[in-house]
Amino acid sequence: MTAPQGVLPLNFRKLDFAARRAALERVYGAGACGLGGMEEAAENRVDLMVEAAVGSLPLPLGLATGFLIDGSSYDLPLATEEASVIAAATYAAQLIRSEGGFSTWASDPVMRAQVFLEGVSPGGELELRGRGAEIGKELEILLGSMRLRGGGYRGLELERVSETGLLRVSILVDVRDAMGANVLNGAAEGMAGSLERLSGGSRLMCILSNDARDRRAGARFEIPAGRLRRGAFSGEEAARRIELASLLAQSDPERAVTHNKGVMNGITALALATGNDTRALEAAVHYWAGRGGSYRGVTTFRRVGEALEGTIELPLALGTVGGSVGLQPAAALSLRILRGPDGRGLCRIAAALGLAQNFAALFALVTEGIQSGHMRLHGRKGGSGE
Ligand code: NAD
Repeated sequence: MTAPQGVLPLNFRKLDFAARRAALERVYGAGACGLGGMEEAAENRVDLMVEAAVGSLPLPLGLATGFLIDGSSYDLPLATEEASVIAAATYAAQLIRSEGGFSTWASDPVMRAQVFLEGVSPGGELELRGRGAEIGKELEILLGSMRLRGGGYRGLELERVSETGLLRVSILVDVRDAMGANVLNGAAEGMAGSLERLSGGSRLMCILSNDARDRRAGARFEIPAGRLRRGAFSGEEAARRIELASLLAQSDPERAVTHNKGVMNGITALALATGNDTRALEAAVHYWAGRGGSYRGVTTFRRVGEALEGTIELPLALGTVGGSVGLQPAAALSLRILRGPDGRGLCRIAAALGLAQNFAALFALVTEGIQSGHMRLHGRKGGSGE
């Protein structure tokens, strides 16, 4: 299959449906990915994916164009039923693009598997704590294939879960390009026998934790305030109002929950388009947003000199292999449009998208209001949401 030929034109959204498909074929060789038979092929696969399948539920798949991320241009495939999501992401991307785009980062993809042990005496716990190196060696072997990819075992944490008296053994694993659920569950179940033997306890359960706090990504952009003039608002006033809305999302959980829903509008749509587990993603983000006992926005906007700076940091358990990733033809096409990123690359793109989405929503909210703002962007009827 030939490599993608650049990116889509910035006026992509203004083309009609047929012209958009033609542009997609021209740039991404989508015909080779079976775009024509995408829906039909999907029908044939659902039976393999879930029990008792009777069909599939088509969702619109669209492209947010014009993203400039770490110096490279991207078109982002988004699967969503919400009318304003792709329009808002595209609007923000094209505005931010002209000011240098997004810079992003991602940590190593370390996740946690948990073994909960019942009936472990203080002596048994002490024994387990003293055998960390031995347990580590066994896990290195168990996760040998992941080690060969540069990931694998990364550490062990022990903690009493106070109200239950259970001992929680957390096994930290670098899962590389996978979301990692089955990898982690396998490691937890594979180790449980040894942990029982060493501690004298017995397992209650072995399962990954969807707390992805160790697997974070972030993005940043800066835009001169003067570029934010809208309606009756000067750019400086719009920047001040966005900064205030950001502070609000840090101090009012009832506002923050909607703020973060807006961040996830794009990220969840990207996850869906690539076949990732959206529930795992959302659970991790909202848990992170509530860390320290107070639920907060995962983005911040502040004025720096004459500019507005936007930043985001959040846990992202996104994979580019394994599970249902790329299984559907449309998901395979989505990964191709993203130029086949590795797991961390996809997380960096998702972080930039979440920030763009949130910026577009706040900009509209504090100036002309979400209804007219989003609907004007999209130019048609439908739920606006944030
Ligand atoms: P998976 O079971 O397909 O495992 C990933 C596979 O890819 C492994 O066999 C690994 O060896 C292989 N692999 C090849 N190249 C790799 C690379 N470069 N990096 C990493 N692995 C590579 O998938 P998974 O990611 O372990 O599990 C994800 C699935 O589990 C999702 O479908 C998810 O919905 C589901 N799940 C989720 C939960 C939860 O979130 N609580 C629980 C159970 C299952």
